[in-house]
Amino acid sequence: MKKVLIIGAGGVGQVVAHKCAQNPEVFGEIMLASRTESKCKAIAAQLSRPIQTAQVDADNVPELVALINSYKPDLVMNIALPYQDLTIMDACLETGVDYLDTANYEPLDEAKFEYKWQWAYQERFKQRGLMALLGSGFDPGVTNVFSAYAQKHHFDEIHQLDIIDCNAGDHGYPFATNFNPEINIREVTAKGRYWERGEWVETDPLSWSMNFDFPAGIGPKKCFLMYHEELESLVQNLKGIKRARFWMTFSDNYLNHLKVLENVGMTRIDEVEHNGQKIVPIQFLKTLLPDPASLGPRTKGKTCIGCLIKGVKDGKPRTYYVYNICDHQEAYREVQSQAISYTTGVPAMIGGMMMLTGKWKQPGVWNMEQMDPDPFMEKLNLHGLPWQETFLEG
Ligand code: NDP
Repeated sequence: MKKVLIIGAGGVGQVVAHKCAQNPEVFGEIMLASRTESKCKAIAAQLSRPIQTAQVDADNVPELVALINSYKPDLVMNIALPYQDLTIMDACLETGVDYLDTANYEPLDEAKFEYKWQWAYQERFKQRGLMALLGSGFDPGVTNVFSAYAQKHHFDEIHQLDIIDCNAGDHGYPFATNFNPEINIREVTAKGRYWERGEWVETDPLSWSMNFDFPAGIGPKKCFLMYHEELESLVQNLKGIKRARFWMTFSDNYLNHLKVLENVGMTRIDEVEHNGQKIVPIQFLKTLLPDPASLGPRTKGKTCIGCLIKGVKDGKPRTYYVYNICDHQEAYREVQSQAISYTTGVPAMIGGMMMLTGKWKQPGVWNMEQMDPDPFMEKLNLHGLPWQETFLEG
């Protein structure tokens, strides 16, 4: 009977709790802990079997250590925010427990995400015989596994990778973000960056776009080049890669609102003085925006996230597209969350399943593409995120 401690009771944490509860043969006992315990209790009340809940401040290592020592989990799943990655990793090292997350560390005072802080834990995790699995969401996460699967089964060398993320859903609000607004807006307003012939090329935020014709009736949509964290590890781990890019669709409505918010300073991440009080505009904006967890019942439509890969197999050029389609309403019917949280929470559960069942078990700090993709790909089909693949001309 394995025990798991899930930290974070937001949109994604809710899905992770549902999916772990659906699989008692792997996740024998579950504790959901977060800053606000009432949110954990509200999620627990939705589940088909009882789980424990707790309050924890995940910025505080001694508090985390005390909770982990009292519950004694086999795995800690960090579904809080990127700011908590290092404190939770520290607590795991101190208590001797494996670690998993869905997003790489980001300092609170700088909109800059990078793996260097977490990769620096490699030796300490190895020496302790512990495993840390980084980025077990959809992107990063499934996109890394898709790439590893392509490399293993369909290519001798991968030359070009385009990760294309489309949310064709509509929540009916003039402006809302599908996951934590602060993290989302920091990511979208950052400079774009892609990998070309051995170096990073920087672009102005959302200045490059392309049209892509999505499957499953979604049709053509405009996609914008962005920097995304999985590119950093994938360019190191894919053999022969010459170019790697990440694209995301945004509606004109979303982009217009974002431009105005940026122009008036509402997306700033530094402190400003307001009526004798210090506030951080982007945090205030988060308070005003709809809670991503509340979008579930309103969001209709589909998401399509996949990898378009070009390379060589047996001396011949090949183009391969592997993707998942997820329906917002179906996700909501199953776990009371929209598809963005669903497509993140399901892979987090599967990553945990890989670790707890010993399919993926290797001391050290690992990105998803460094593991055998096959058992993970099989579980995607069984647990709500079936994938499809196609070979394209050209
Ligand atoms: P939410 O903001 O909805 O939830 C975050 C949760 O973490 C909240 O319950 C919050 O508590 C809790 N939390 C924040 N700070 C602390 C703290 N110091 N101690 C304890 N708990 C804390 O975010 P999401 O659920 O949308 O996102 C969760 C994670 O998933 C993020 O890291 C995000 O970047 C990642 N993500 C990854 C994706 C992928 O594909 N890889 C895609 C989408 C998201 P409170 O309720 O009190 O605020």
